[in-house]
Amino acid sequence: MPVVLARGAGVWVWDVDGNKYLDFLSAYSAVSAGHGNPRIKSVLAEQLERLDVPSRAFYTDRLGTFVEKLCTFSGMDKALPMNTGTEAVETAIKAARRWGYDVKGIPDGKARIVVSEHNFHGRSTTICGFSSEPAYKRGFGPFDGGFDTIPFGDAAALENAITPQTCAFLTEPMQGEAGIILPPQGWLKAVQTICRKHNVLLILDEIQTGLGRTGKNFAFEHEIDHPDGLTLGKALGGGVYPVSAFLARADVMDVFDPGSHGSTFGGNPLAAAIGLEALAILEDEDLAGRSQDLGAYLKDRLMALNTRLFRDIRGAGLWIGVDIDPDIISARSFCGHLKDKGILCKETHEITVRFAPPLTITRAEIDWAMPQIETVCRAVSR
Ligand SMILES: *Cc1c(COP(=O)(O)O)cnc(C)c1O
Repeated sequence: MPVVLARGAGVWVWDVDGNKYLDFLSAYSAVSAGHGNPRIKSVLAEQLERLDVPSRAFYTDRLGTFVEKLCTFSGMDKALPMNTGTEAVETAIKAARRWGYDVKGIPDGKARIVVSEHNFHGRSTTICGFSSEPAYKRGFGPFDGGFDTIPFGDAAALENAITPQTCAFLTEPMQGEAGIILPPQGWLKAVQTICRKHNVLLILDEIQTGLGRTGKNFAFEHEIDHPDGLTLGKALGGGVYPVSAFLARADVMDVFDPGSHGSTFGGNPLAAAIGLEALAILEDEDLAGRSQDLGAYLKDRLMALNTRLFRDIRGAGLWIGVDIDPDIISARSFCGHLKDKGILCKETHEITVRFAPPLTITRAEIDWAMPQIETVCRAVSR
């Protein structure tokens, strides 16, 4: 989008000319708590006064509290903090493979991981190697191998793909970058049963869906108690700093022995203080509940526009994908028109537009946005 942003507060951002926009993308869910959240700013400043980034060779008074909170909040046994989402997924891959060798007894170098088609898990060479998106991988090979791809939302395909050398099934519970794709109901429950039957780890990437985005703290809560491994990121950084984590069952995390994995910045006191506060805000302000209620409200309002421009409206919580009829206008041009009306959105995969504002958005702010969206729909479908 041709817009140069210079300032932000809450759900609003301003460009260099002072034009105001409603941020309907919120940095792909990283800014769930809103821009410049006062609580995040205050813990950041406070922690900066106390201690910044010591060596990871030493303990700090912040990390234990953060890790403990992550575990109680998610129901997972152990947590390992990293920085970007990509690193959390890389950590999950390492853990799954080593668990495959050390615990499951897969012959060394033979472990395989099943993944979903149209996945998005980051952009490292290993991760983009098992992407099905040519743009993400062209010219970056050769790729490692060790991954088997099945259609998203197809439990039978998972069971067919599993062999004695499969250590894990890694998937988003609902696909974000693919265009907000929800699996059929009952899929995740069935997937968990299949994984348990074959002693395969179920690892969910909730970097985008987690922390309230889909109307629950975690998308997995719509169907299961908890997975065997979980990656978090984006909103965990309170919109200001990269904070991610890999969480797992104890026997999975325990495959890491000293020296086997690490990160210079991972879990530093600033990151820990921010992550802790991001979780506290999520709970105190019931962001998951807001996401559920206001997401349903926004979806209803979008449906009530009853425009032939929208071919499909789907989503969970404040995470809504709208397919635009490409015979009328491209999703990208549609987003351009929204920008001119003060709404920042972005298309994904030619026909889908995402509506994913900060979870702190109010009903009044949605009510402000709707007439703008309606005006654009009217103008372009005329
Ligand atoms: C954004 C995202 C990632 C990658 O996170 P980065 O912080 O950009 O490395 C991984 N998985 C999912 C599902 C994501 O949405």
